[in-house]
Amino acid sequence: MIQEHVDLQSLNTFGLKASARYFCHADSEPVLNEALRFAQTRDLPLLVIGGGSNLLLREDFSGVVIRMALSGIAHEVRDDDSVCVDAASGENWHDFVAHCLAQGWYGLENLALIPGSVGAAPIQNIGAYGVEAGDFIESVRVLDIATGQQQTLSREACDFGYRDSVFKRSLRGNTLILGVRFRLWRQPQPNIRYAALAESLRGKQPGPQEIFDAVCAIRRSKLPDPAELGNAGSFFKNPVISAAHYARLQQVAHDIPGFVSGDGHSVKVPAAWLIERAGWKGRSVGGAAVYERQALVIVNRDHASAQDVVTLATEIMASVRQQFGVALEPEVQWVPPFSAT
Ligand SMILES: Cc1cc2nc3c(=O)[nH]c(=O)nc-3n(C[C@H](O)[C@H](O)[C@H](O)COP(=O)(O)OP(=O)(O)OC[C@H]3O[C@@H](n4cnc5c(N)ncnc54)[C@H](O)[C@@H]3O)c2cc1C
Repeated sequence: MIQEHVDLQSLNTFGLKASARYFCHADSEPVLNEALRFAQTRDLPLLVIGGGSNLLLREDFSGVVIRMALSGIAHEVRDDDSVCVDAASGENWHDFVAHCLAQGWYGLENLALIPGSVGAAPIQNIGAYGVEAGDFIESVRVLDIATGQQQTLSREACDFGYRDSVFKRSLRGNTLILGVRFRLWRQPQPNIRYAALAESLRGKQPGPQEIFDAVCAIRRSKLPDPAELGNAGSFFKNPVISAAHYARLQQVAHDIPGFVSGDGHSVKVPAAWLIERAGWKGRSVGGAAVYERQALVIVNRDHASAQDVVTLATEIMASVRQQFGVALEPEVQWVPPFSAT
């Protein structure tokens, strides 16, 4: 069950060349436990992956790569309004969203076509078109890697934020996600507050299926399909800056967009705007390039090396910091981790 010297190029959507010294396709809990024991007894580092769609593999991995492939979906009707749906971590996210829609379990349709696995969804609290996974997550079943103990974390314990959760902070690297429980609606409650979605559905009273279709259509028109052009989605998070900083930037860049927080103290600025204004759209380093249609996405244009991507990303960060005084933070998980210093 433990394989050696496994090529990871097809297991990361960037399509970067890297290999795993040891690899396990964990499609059951016993197999998963065996891989964990294997790593522990040899004191090897561990890398857990799902669909590899949020990863920047910078080098070969010298330890054990575990690909989470646990499967299964179960549900329990709670009341007239809601249903609890348990999905194992290895389920494909988009297929899960489509399955829920087909069953008449609503809420996740705005999150259609996000690549990756169910198990990774809570980690960065995936979000799109006005909805975040955390809005519908009731709890997350986890395994403590060191002790082997399983426990269920409530939504509050997950402490979801913008592309953030406890799994990116105190539980990072020491916890495996085994499954996620969602609480979904049994009656449609369409959410078309997001401007681009509202625009594409103008004049209609869309149901969940129309929203699902519209989201898929918008995403296909804007984002590169990793099967055709390697990428890991948004490379950077949208930075949140102080209202005072934003006001200073408005004096030199009148058209800078921003979304003011509820308390008025901070403003979220689209990273794509900063990158484009800094002149990076379409530019490349080696085989890595900033996507022409969406500056937030770095693509593997032509046999990019991880170093090409790292150099391009680092140059973008330096240039945005220099021009706007804004620190961009990668959304993509770097392995080994990104360090700002
Ligand atoms: C074209 C494209 C579009 C995208 N659009 C969006 C979007 O709209 N919104 C959004 O939020 N994201 C988006 N993403 C990013 C990505 O789809 C999500 O982050 C997704 O949740 C990653 O899932 P994955 O299974 O591929 O995780 P991976 O890339 O395999 O892993 C990501 C991180 O999670 C860890 N991990 C994975 N599974 C587990 C587990 N079971 N237990 C513990 N740790 C685990 C890994 O170690 C790694 O640190 C996009 C990516 C692409 C390529």
